This record gives sequence, C-alpha cells and structure tokens, in this order.
Amino acid sequence: RRLNHHHTNVKPPDLSAPTPESDAAARREKLRVQREGLPVCSYRDQIVGMLTSSPVVIVVGETGSGKSTQICQYLQDSEDFRTACFGAQHKDSIRIAITQPRRVAAVATAKRVADERGGKIGGEVAYSIRFDDTASPRTRIRFLTDGCLLRECLHDRHILNYQVIILDEAHERSVSTDVLFGIIKGALAVRAGNLRVLVTSATLNTELFSKYFGNAPVLNIPGRCYPVDIHYSPLTKGTPHHHHHHHQRYTQHRPAQCVRVLCAGGTARVEACVNAALRLHMEENDHPCAHILIFVTGMEECERGCTMAYDKLQALMESGREVGDVLIVPLYGALASEDQHLVFEEVPLDCRKIVFATNIAETSLTVDNVGFVIDSGYVKQKSYNAKTGMDLIQTMQVSKVQAEQRTGRAGRTKAGKCFRLYSIDNWKHFQAVTTPEIQRVNLSAVVLQLKCMGINDVLHFDFLEPPSTTALLLAYRLLYLLKAIDAEGAVTTEGQFMVEVPLEPTYARCVLASTWLDVTDEMLTLVAILSSENVWVRPSKQNEAAVNKASRAHKQFHHATGDHLSLLTVFSEWLDNRTDRRPDWCKSHFISHRSLRMAMDIRRQLREQLDKIHIPRKPADDADSRLVEVRRVPTSERVRRALCAGLFMHTARRSETVDAWVSVGESTLARPERDSALEDMDPPPQWLIYSELSGQSAGAAILRCVSVIDREWVDELLKRMDHVDLKKLANYHPADSTADGRGRGRKRVLEKDPAAPEAAVS
Ligand code: ADP
Repeated sequence: RRLNHHHTNVKPPDLSAPTPESDAAARREKLRVQREGLPVCSYRDQIVGMLTSSPVVIVVGETGSGKSTQICQYLQDSEDFRTACFGAQHKDSIRIAITQPRRVAAVATAKRVADERGGKIGGEVAYSIRFDDTASPRTRIRFLTDGCLLRECLHDRHILNYQVIILDEAHERSVSTDVLFGIIKGALAVRAGNLRVLVTSATLNTELFSKYFGNAPVLNIPGRCYPVDIHYSPLTKGTPHHHHHHHQRYTQHRPAQCVRVLCAGGTARVEACVNAALRLHMEENDHPCAHILIFVTGMEECERGCTMAYDKLQALMESGREVGDVLIVPLYGALASEDQHLVFEEVPLDCRKIVFATNIAETSLTVDNVGFVIDSGYVKQKSYNAKTGMDLIQTMQVSKVQAEQRTGRAGRTKAGKCFRLYSIDNWKHFQAVTTPEIQRVNLSAVVLQLKCMGINDVLHFDFLEPPSTTALLLAYRLLYLLKAIDAEGAVTTEGQFMVEVPLEPTYARCVLASTWLDVTDEMLTLVAILSSENVWVRPSKQNEAAVNKASRAHKQFHHATGDHLSLLTVFSEWLDNRTDRRPDWCKSHFISHRSLRMAMDIRRQLREQLDKIHIPRKPADDADSRLVEVRRVPTSERVRRALCAGLFMHTARRSETVDAWVSVGESTLARPERDSALEDMDPPPQWLIYSELSGQSAGAAILRCVSVIDREWVDELLKRMDHVDLKKLANYHPADSTADGRGRGRKRVLEKDPAAPEAAVS
C-alpha cells in the first residue's frame, strides 16, 4: 500500500511521468475542454463587451469559476477589445497585470495560464512576487502580488506600464489591494480611457467597490453549488470549545489573552482535525475518492498536520488495518514554489488527497474534487496594537463569511460534507465579516510608500475604507522615530532608501544601520532567516526523548549574546557543508533545511536589490554618526547595535520585582521562549531586544528570537518618543477636523480610544 507525504522518504505516486510527444496534443485538448467547462466561459463576450464600454467593471463569481485564469486571456485574445480601447498600436497585444494578495496564488495561477497557452513562465506569461520576478520584455500577462504592483507604482504612479489591471481577489481586502484602489482611481482620472480596470470578488458585497468607482457595472457569474451537510461539534461543559467561546468575548478587550489560550490549544486543534480526517478516510467508501480539505491556521499547523496524519496512518497499517491510497499535502502562503505542484496534481481515482491548508484555500486557490471540508474554525491574522502601532500575529476565530466560504469548498463537484470543529453556539458568536486588513495592521510601510509617490497628505487619501486616524498617526510617528521622515513629515534621504528595500520600515532601518556598521552581510542573512520559516525543528511534545535531543542539538549553536547571533552561526555552519550534505546535517542538528534554503534565496535577492539602490553613506544625525565610530567593536556587538536602530521599540528591561522583563513598547511582562539562548544566562541580562512578541505563558508574553543589548544603544532613540509633534509631522489639527463630516467621525475615534497617540506621546 502506498502512503505519501511530501516530506517523507516514501516516494510520491508517479503522477508526473514524462509526457511523450504524442500525449502533448491530448493534454492540450484536455485543457481546452476543462477551460470551456468553467462557469466564466459562457460570460466571455459579456465581460469583454462590458469592459470595452466601461473603464471599470466588477465581476463576482465563486472560487474556481475561472476568474483568475480565464478573464485575462479573453481580453488578451480579443483584437476588437484591444483596438477599441487602446487604438491601433495595440492591435497585436496589450500588457495586463493581475494582482493576487498571495504569493502562492500568483505563482500557481501564472503557471496554469502559461500551461493553457502552451508557453513557459517568463515568456508571454510571468509572475512577479517579492524576491522572485520572472517577467521579461516579452511578457504580456503578468501575475503580481498586490504588494509588487504597489512597489512598481513608486516609480510609475499612473501605472503606464499596463493597459489593463485586474484586481483579483478584491474580497480579500489586503492592505495593498486597498491602497491600489486609491492609486488606480487617481490613474483613471489622469489616463482618460487609456486604462481598463477589472475588479473580481468571490463574495457578493460588491456595492462598496462599485460605488467607489462611480457606480461601476457589476457582473454576477453564478457558480455550481451542490448542497453541503454541515456537522457541528457538540458543546459539552469543560471541552476546549467551551473555553474558546468564553475567551473569544474576553479577547475583544485584551487581544494578547487570546493567543495564550489558543496557542496552548494548537496541537490539540491539529490533532482533532487529523482524527476527523482519518475517520473520514477510513469510513467513506466513495469512488472515485473525494478529497479532504482541512482548514488550520498556519504553515506550522499545516506541516504538523501532515506529519501527524502520516504517522497515524502508518501506525494503522502496521497494526494490520487496510488503508486506502492517500496523498497528504500542505497548502500555505509561504510554500516554496517547487513544493506546490503536488496539491494541484491529478491523482488516480482510488487515491484520496488530504490537504492541510490555511485560509489560502478559502477563496484564493482551488483544489478540485473536494468532497469533505474540516474547519478548525480558526485563522491566523495580523492585528494591531493600538498603543504602539506594532503588529501582532494572532490566532483567532474566523468570521461567519469565512466559515461559509470554507464550507462551500465541499460542494463544487457534487454534494459534500463539512465538519465544523466547533459548536453551533460557538458559531453564533463569530464576527459577521472579517475586518479589512487595513484597519488592523501597522501602516508605516503604506504611509511611507504613499509619501514617496508624492501623496503627501495621507490622512486625506481616498481610501476605499479609511483606516482610523489613530492608526495613520501612529504610522507617521513610527516613521519619524525611524528617521524616515523629518519633523515636518518630509521623506528624508534615509527614508528614500528605506522605501526601496522590500522590507518593513523597521527592518529596512536595521539594514541601513548595518551598512554604516559594516555588518551588511550579517544583517541581510539575519533578515532573510527571519523572513523565512522557523529554523529550529521542534519534535512534538509527546516524544520527550526527541524533544530533549533537539534541545541539546540546538544548544550547541547558542551564542553568548543571544538568539540572533545563534541564527547566524547556524547559517554559516550550514553553508560550510557541501551542498549535497546539507540535508543530512540539518536532520542530525534538528534544523530546517527548507527554511535555510529559502533564507539563502531571499538573501541573494535582497543583496541584488541593495546593489541597485543608492545607500546614504553618512548618517544624518549625530547619534547615528557615532555608529560609524564603533566599527572596531566585535561583529556580534555591531550586529545587535544595527538591530537596535530599527527594533528599538522591541526592547525590554529586566523587572525589579518579578522574574521577567517589561517590554518597552507594550509595557507587558514578557519572557524569552523556551530553548532561547537567554534561558540559562546568569545573571539574567538587564536589557533585551526581540524580533517578535507573541502569545502568553505563565502570566507573561513570549519573546521570540531575543538578544542582550546595552541600554545606551537605545537610550537616545527611546527618548525621541517624548518629542513627537503630530501637528507638524502629519499636518494634523484635531480642532479643525470637525469641519467636515469625515473629520468628525475620525475625531470620535480619537476621543474614544484611550491609546490615541496623544496619550501615548505625552
Ligand atoms: P477563480 O479565480 O474564479 O477562483 P481560477 O481561474 O483560479 O478560478 O480557477 C479555475 C479552475 O482552473 C480551477 O477550478 C482549477 O480546476 C483550474 N486551475 C487553476 N489553477 C490551477 C493550477 N495551478 N493547477 C491546476 N489547475 C488549476
């Protein structure tokens, strides 16, 4: 019996046997039939017609109806459309940009379209995602992450590079898509008819989009839906569900608490999903096998789910049970592109796919022939600490709309079943719709980008749905503290540099400081590792022996100054191995090979990027000038000083009363995570810098990736927090903002919010 799991040594089924030449035609024919069967196909002429007569069109259709892969081809392939809209010079082709909120979707969709058109990626069809751009001068259909298109707008505010922009997956409401709405509206006004915009959405509430673009026409494509049976978990007193329910209400006031409860439940949640999936697999005697799609919260849960399901099935087989063929695969945003193909691959009729996915499979990517959905009811989301303006990744309950979307995945090809691992009472307390990202993240990158495009008054930018004034002011403040803008709100030379680096402003600042401190290589490596997956492999808690072994292996890398330098040690030792020995080295040291490989790739691309931009050689102010003078101190100190330049809000001082530290930004108690190099330092260091604050355990927040610092490295930076003049900085006058209706609404936000910047600054 075959059992397949992409990370194990068991060979995957021979799905992609090389296609002989004679089969190529058959394959093309098959793709053609598939294309013509998509719901969007019968609307081809209508879509093209509508977009010929109207500059903006909104298309609504269920996930999988063919919006992302087909519409761009209809437009590209219609000569009438091309010449009617853009004149004779575009008789042969036009350039189309299709934005995707997620990297994986941009890559997968581009590959599919290239395939359908019988070409290769990098020719007529290409994708561009951060750290990976395949476009060439021949490219006519380009899939980009929305962040990438926004980045292009930095130098091309009217997006002259394209004739058609398709804002795909607009229902996702990612920050970048939301901002692109505003930029595109501006471009439409300037380019008078020379730009066509198509907005697609998988959910019905398109009135907002239509209104924003002056009542743009909406086309509705009905999808195929079969009934889905919904099964809830029963609610019993004392079960985890009961706790979740209780804490959900609690979290509306104290977000950090949410993480504690839910993280503790992470493994239990995955296990519940695995058990449900295996029960289905063993008990359903359907043929052909319908696939099982499981929604968990993140990359780590996907991977853990795959391993756990694999182990459990292996155990079942060893105990003599008959187990049907199965392919177990993960699907999440950061999945390396070479690991993606299995999830879409066709499998034999008697083989079942079990897919552990994040919310990416809700609306973005379609796994065909799903008959069963298992919904953990949770999602990982960025949320925002209104006091500090810092992002926090939180595991939280999905909204009702999300739960519906997940359920819907089961009814695409025939009637299906959905198992909701929460009770119906639980469900009644879910938020109705998901809060758009722009209203729950740190906006400093957005504000800096807009300012660099020459949009100075970001407070009055025409947002689709404006974020709160508080959030925008906090972004201004952080940019000022990072010295990306000056006291009058003008972008500095250093800010110009920071906007070009494809990193959050905080990390861009670290990179800048590292150039002055002569540790650029180290900083790029570090930033690349932090942008990649978790490097440390931690076996599941049940296996105590393995946990201890991993812990001992990790200790060898511990650096006397903390975890950041430990990561650099891991990376350089890994690099010292011959390429073919690296996977084995990783296995014996409990290090993730994939993560380091990914980090190496990111580092290379960051380096290439950096070589293209002007680096301000001399710091603008005295405090930073002193950085240049300390070039002779050891590397380990210079790296940490460079980190302080951007992450100074992520510092914590030793508490005088308890065995913990107090984070400067959040004023909460916190401790380094288990296995941190700081764990056995004696005496405990007075000041720390950390990369991430998350969760809670034993009454304190958990600090991830922590190093020791000297107070004086951050003293001056922290003192600047006392001297922020928002009136000058953001041209913000609370008194006049009552003049217009919008201002009044905003003012209310400020009055109600005790964590408004004024309060934080005073
Ligand atoms: P929508 O944008 O409406 O969600 P898509 O255009 O993304 O729909 O997908 C339409 C269909 O194309 C899917 O149901 C699937 O069968 C197929 N498809 C899309 N992307 C891929 C891919 N990367 N590999 C295989 N099939 C794909």
